[in-house]
Formats: sequence, structure tokens, C-alpha cells
Amino acid sequence: MFATIAIGLIGVPVLISWATGTLDILFQTMKSPMPVWATIVLVVLLGIYIYLKIEKSHSRQSSAYPVKYFVVDKYKWKATIYGVENFEVDRTSICLKHDLPLVFTSSYYYCPDSTCENKLWDSDHYNYHSTAKSYIDRELRKTNYKC
Ligand SMILES: [Zn+2]
Repeated sequence: MFATIAIGLIGVPVLISWATGTLDILFQTMKSPMPVWATIVLVVLLGIYIYLKIEKSHSRQSSAYPVKYFVVDKYKWKATIYGVENFEVDRTSICLKHDLPLVFTSSYYYCPDSTCENKLWDSDHYNYHSTAKSYIDRELRKTNYKC
């Protein structure tokens, strides 16, 4: 009986001090080295973020759609091909002679080569662009183009 009380008297404070001690250590590890593991967590998160970013840009590169150039009439046109009958032709055509994309001013497109007289009026541009689209469409169907 006495032994039980004695153990209880010693045991309970020891248990409490042990518990509070453990809690103290826990609190201390949470409080004082906080910046350390906060930094570790941040670094890990940043690493994951960078990794995902790189992965994403890689997958974007590999899934980039093929680009093909077509000569229609006096110009060369750049087309991005998503599939047969699903493509996009760049608004800006390319000078056949100098292989330079034309530059747009307020009313016309011109070749940046100073010796070139290639000029495409904005009013004619729509027709040329539409014609190019039509020819490219036929070309892609003919070759049954696959990405
Ligand atoms: Zn030119």
C-alpha cells in the first residue's frame, strides 16, 4: 500500500515532468529550429516546382506542331499543321527572292531587303492569304498529311 503511494507520489511527477519535458522538446523543435525545416520544406517545394516547370516545357516542346512552308504564287507561306484540314497559315508571307518575312506598315507589307521591291498591299493581302490557304489545304489532303 505504502509502496503504491510512494511510487504514485514519485511516479506521477516523473510522468508529468517526462510528458512536459517531451512536450517542451517538441515545442522547442517546433519553435527554435523552425527556420531550418521551414527552409528545407521551402527548398523541397521549390525543387518540385522547378522540376514540374521543366517537365512541362519539355512536354510542350515534344508536342509542338510541325511547321511547313509552301510556295503559292509570288510568296512563301508558313503553315502550322495540326492535322489534315486543320492548319493555320501565318498572316505574314515570306519574300521568295530573299526568304525574309514581310514587314507590315499601316497599309502594306514590304520585304525588309533594301534592294527588294516586293510590296503587298493590305487590300490584296486577304486574297493572297486565302489563296495560299486553299492551295495548302489541297496539298495536305493530297499527301494525306499526318503529324
Ligand atoms: Zn525580297
